[in-house]
Amino acid sequence: MLSAVPAVPEPAPADRRPALRFGARALSYGELAVAARSLAGRLREAADGGRVAVWATPVLETAVAVVAALEAGLPVVPLNPRSGRAELGHILADSAPELILAAPGDELPEAVRGLRRLDVDLDDAPDESPDETAGARAVPAADVGPEDPAFVVYTSGTTGPPKGAVLPRRAVTTTLDALAEAWQWTGDDVLVHGLPLFHVHGLILGVLGPLRRGGSVRHLGRFSPEGVARELNAGATMLFGVPTMYHRLAEALPGDPGLAKALTGARLLVSGSAALPVHDHERIAAATGRRVLERYGMTETLMNTAVRADGEARPGTVGLPLPGVELRLVEEDGTPIAAYDGESVGEIQVRGPNLFTGYLHRPDATAGAFTADGWFRTGDMAVREPDGYVRIVGRRATDLIKSGGYKIGAGEIENALLEHPGVGEAAVTGEPDEDLGERVVAWVVPADPASPPAAEELSAHVAERLAPHKRPRVVRYLTALPRNDMGKLLKRELRVP
Ligand code: ATP
Ligand code: MG
Repeated sequence: MLSAVPAVPEPAPADRRPALRFGARALSYGELAVAARSLAGRLREAADGGRVAVWATPVLETAVAVVAALEAGLPVVPLNPRSGRAELGHILADSAPELILAAPGDELPEAVRGLRRLDVDLDDAPDESPDETAGARAVPAADVGPEDPAFVVYTSGTTGPPKGAVLPRRAVTTTLDALAEAWQWTGDDVLVHGLPLFHVHGLILGVLGPLRRGGSVRHLGRFSPEGVARELNAGATMLFGVPTMYHRLAEALPGDPGLAKALTGARLLVSGSAALPVHDHERIAAATGRRVLERYGMTETLMNTAVRADGEARPGTVGLPLPGVELRLVEEDGTPIAAYDGESVGEIQVRGPNLFTGYLHRPDATAGAFTADGWFRTGDMAVREPDGYVRIVGRRATDLIKSGGYKIGAGEIENALLEHPGVGEAAVTGEPDEDLGERVVAWVVPADPASPPAAEELSAHVAERLAPHKRPRVVRYLTALPRNDMGKLLKRELRVP
């Protein structure tokens, strides 16, 4: 049945290996096979070949729903339960799902109530002894091929309204197998998971990834440093997180020897979805001797690069292109940059079997996202180091400041600011300036709200570490930075109060 995660060996219903655990509730591979098969059968009848929305709360039912829909050959549209009404309305109108899958107790908001609802009732699974008849009751395998859509995942909406990326099954399997190769990821791995399940990171990498390898997932429900420490000290081997999680771990480490022991003992600590601040990377390394491996991907491309398990985790870099992924940097006029000099900044473009097939209902956006020769324009800017490592500088739209004839990346200034003990969080943007074209503006959340560091001091701090033209001309103080549910910074919401 886990052909749902294509090419996973068919587990026998009596297979008692652990597959999924969410809090106190767990399913073995055999139990997952029975539950997902039963739901897949109901779905085939109910969904009429259409798309299936999944109310993606971080619970066992969500994982079963996704596996079942894939098993039934129906494209999954994961919904963020914390989305506002307007965003949900936009996604539902755009993706037009046949029905919505939810856990029995879930209260759905009005925006979703018009949809036909099917409950994922795990107590409802066929009650026979798993090793007897479950196999015989299997619905015949869905007639789906590698190019058929597995998911329509909406982008995070960091730079504009979310767009529905249609992800074929081939992209999912390609990316998971490439990561497995890079990270020596096997069925012995146990993943600690604290991410939401409505995006590529938490759902495809965090749930389907372990299932494809035959390993297991322990979901914390809600991320906490205590939960991470508990699971890693109880035999889990790897942690996937976003930078805000690693920030919290870095903050918690000094007073928590149990956490330090847990992280030191992990086989793999991986960060992605946004840039991991160098300061947090270094603090974790100093306290645990372990370096966090970064990987770089997007909804549209799944994973493009990663630091390999046997590679060097250099702070601020996202490693090398994954097997099968072609990656190049290009100048604004489209000329490829050949130099691996750590300095020449260009837009990352990628090509490969990990890519989506297009944006749902947006042929113009899809066409605009590719070059004539089939490279996908990521909108992310980077340099390549002499050994080919990719160092992301930021997004073309929000992180590239053109000031006094220079092109300045916001990321390195943010990293420098975060090294100042008085800075808790930092974001850097550009603002129109009569003299400079744009001026560098720093948005700072002081580490101690009672004594924010002075603007001149921060400006001097940056000028000491980077070239003087990169120093912030204006510093604005905030109590928190605007972030989405993945902890991504929403720079377009940074406005003068
Ligand atoms: P939208 O496309 O709707 O504006 P989004 O780009 O944030 O939102 P995602 O597809 O979830 O939506 O995120 C992909 C982006 O996240 C990448 O283009 C890149 O900017 C950023 N990103 C992912 N991983 C990393 C990383 N390791 N380092 C730096 N940036 C990263
Ligand atoms: Mg994007």
